Amino acid sequence: MSQYLPLGKFSFGLGDRFAQQGKAQLRACIRATELGAVFVPVWNKSHREHTFIGSEPSSTRAEADAAVKALGWNQPYHVDADHIRLETVDRFIPHSDFYTIDVADSIGKPAAAADVKAFVERHPELIGTVSIPHLDHPLTITRAEAERVANQFLLATQDAGKIYRHIAQAKGATNFITEVSMDETDNPQTPLELLIILAAIADQQIPIQTIAPKFTGRFNKGVDYAGDVKQFEKEFNEDLAVIAFAIKQYGLPPSLKLSVHSGSDKFSIYVPMRRALKKFGAGVHIKTAGTTWLEELIGLAEAGGDGLAIAKEIYAHAIEHVDEFCAPYASVIDLDKRKLPTAAVVNVWTSRQFTDALRHDSKNPGYNPSLRQLLHVSFKVAAKKGDRYLNELKRHEAIVAKNVTENLFERHMKPLLIG
Ligand SMILES: [Zn+2]
Repeated sequence: MSQYLPLGKFSFGLGDRFAQQGKAQLRACIRATELGAVFVPVWNKSHREHTFIGSEPSSTRAEADAAVKALGWNQPYHVDADHIRLETVDRFIPHSDFYTIDVADSIGKPAAAADVKAFVERHPELIGTVSIPHLDHPLTITRAEAERVANQFLLATQDAGKIYRHIAQAKGATNFITEVSMDETDNPQTPLELLIILAAIADQQIPIQTIAPKFTGRFNKGVDYAGDVKQFEKEFNEDLAVIAFAIKQYGLPPSLKLSVHSGSDKFSIYVPMRRALKKFGAGVHIKTAGTTWLEELIGLAEAGGDGLAIAKEIYAHAIEHVDEFCAPYASVIDLDKRKLPTAAVVNVWTSRQFTDALRHDSKNPGYNPSLRQLLHVSFKVAAKKGDRYLNELKRHEAIVAKNVTENLFERHMKPLLIG
């Protein structure tokens, strides 16, 4: 396996659409680290986000460096080129030291028949009964099943290898962390599939440190997990067992861990995750992005006056374009249009009414998950306002920052670490 830049045990993906909340986000990592485990901040932004906002990858790097310097953070931190492919990676190379190689589009496209055959022949250990510590039952894999899985995923791992080697050549293998993501696809991967995928990734000599499978259930944007929590917990445990086994079996980096592309705010699975991580002594990477943008809106609304006014303006624009804004996110939002208040109704709301509706507190009777999801996918509206939006953020920096830090620390990091 080639050399690599090692990633710490607990890391947290901090998306920041407008690159204004780096310090507030880092403060949450500092508070989490004070609880006993270093929480490595990773500022992630995808090609798609940069395109929507009109920003450049250099701005994410500048933000991360500035936050780290300002707060004297002396632990590792990283900048993630999120969901890149061969066509989109180059603009990130000077600035990112973490690459999320997205090969979901290649899933289900068959690799060359000869490659599938060679893969299955190279891995006799995968055929028959495979006993994996901490799995309730050994895996039983027939040759036909191994071929089916290889047909489903081998091309994706070959693509990952191509992209990995492209980055390694440009950057030097020791200068970055590699994640492979398969989350943006239709079906969750089973533990058996994960094992075969990891064997194929090892064949590609990718020093993978985080893998983002698709988990069971719905990961809607900015709202809680929708699905069978018990089933999730079972699969999450099985995935951890498979990863621990694959590290040994295939010589993958000992730091390899799951990456949960959470879509933000999957509070009800944090406790089951914590239990599982503790049991395995495993680390995890949690990726969030939109939750911070929503805290910006909450902070502006809380500030009242012109802050509340711009938050209302953004909502009015969002509801006017509800179908257009929701369309690209159909598989990751689930909002009830009938529950969206009209712009006229929101226009006379107090700060409190606005923040009650938007803040992710399911115990608050005013909380409106439909409104929250709509605003989650409407950040383009704020991007269009350009400096006017950024100036509001600056004017109300203290109150916005307080919301950003508290949200990440109290609702996300603390439950993951101590409940
Ligand atoms: Zn993802």
